[in-house]
Amino acid sequence: MTLSGRRVLATGAKWLAEKGRGAQRRALPNMSAWRIPMLVPTLEGRTSEYLLECVETNFVSSIGPFVARFEDGLASLLGAPDALACASGTAALHLALVATGVGPGDEVMVSDLTFIASANAALYCGASVTLVDSEPATWNLDPELVIGELERRHRGNLPQPSAIVAVHLLGHPPDLANLLEAARAHGVPVIEDAAEALGAAWVQGPLDGVAAGAAGSLGCFSFNGNKLLTTGGGGALVAADRAVLDRARHLSTQARLSGIGSEHDEIGFNYRMSNLAAAVGLAQLERIETFLMKKRGIAARYDEALAGLDRVSLPPSAPWARRSAWLYTVLLDGRETRDRVLAALYNNGIESRPLWPPLHRQVPYKDAVRIGGAVADNLSDRALSLPSSVTLSPAEQDEVITVVRNAVSSR
Ligand SMILES: *Cc1c(COP(=O)(O)O)cnc(C)c1O
Repeated sequence: MTLSGRRVLATGAKWLAEKGRGAQRRALPNMSAWRIPMLVPTLEGRTSEYLLECVETNFVSSIGPFVARFEDGLASLLGAPDALACASGTAALHLALVATGVGPGDEVMVSDLTFIASANAALYCGASVTLVDSEPATWNLDPELVIGELERRHRGNLPQPSAIVAVHLLGHPPDLANLLEAARAHGVPVIEDAAEALGAAWVQGPLDGVAAGAAGSLGCFSFNGNKLLTTGGGGALVAADRAVLDRARHLSTQARLSGIGSEHDEIGFNYRMSNLAAAVGLAQLERIETFLMKKRGIAARYDEALAGLDRVSLPPSAPWARRSAWLYTVLLDGRETRDRVLAALYNNGIESRPLWPPLHRQVPYKDAVRIGGAVADNLSDRALSLPSSVTLSPAEQDEVITVVRNAVSSR
């Protein structure tokens, strides 16, 4: 029996009605209706102290010391010259494209398999989107497809895209070394959507030691509530070229000129991060090594427990990359098994989700030009994300593992 998405949701809703509300819910500090939620933040550390400092000093808006401290901390974590804190990851992506010069009529290549924000930013600029299929090894955009296309256009004297947005899906870096070289040769800037990959890095080859987000022309991060580091809502941008980041900074504050006159020299955005959000971000940043250690520990434990199970394949972990392990996602042997495991988890009060449909299956992108085949479709039909919160206890993880094991072997 194949469960439709609606049916699975109905199963989840039934569980919520019966058990999720009431006593269980009140007992949970994370306020989630799920007994074991998929991704919840932890605000351990100095969060309250820093927030109180904002209140007491009256610095709550985008002017205030925490914004600069958070930006400095991020830049040094990433080995980048500077960082720009933004209102969201989506704002960071939009600024990155505008600062790159992407405008109406331009073309941006984006991974087909990603969260929709990666591509929406191009449409905000009036550009069109060309979707690139995944490669099976990392689930990220296939570098060979992109390189082949750049070369084909070069030979045919056809226009090149104005930018390539390379996503680090689920915290695993794409195989970028050759792609960066080809893109540079053809004059195409590469923007990394590292929203899910703070703390990930390349550990071999030409990019050895480079942090995710710091290899291309610009790198974007998200600090939404479910990301590795949260500011409630927020994002950041880093750039190889300081002048490009300065321009993004200018655009993020309505392109307002310095000085006391309220003068603006172009059309900007209100995309700055508030001091309140940055205070939370700084407290989170002080815990980042612990968060990463916990995430990688959770991933290693799932890997060990699920390896060798019939019908289950583990998520990518290339030898040349160190994943952030933001969200642990397995592949089942097909949609039917995936939906069966999902329903079993729901029935046990355990939150899990399928991966997004590829963008070409989302309404705004159904007519987009595509490069490649059906790898993204296949991954999306089989993938299931499992609870991966930093606060997930070994006992809770064992429970998830037991439910997954029983569900895949039941027939
Ligand atoms: C979360 C996310 C974004 C958007 O970040 P927001 O802070 O939610 O705007 C963009 N791209 C990817 C891949 C993401 O996971």
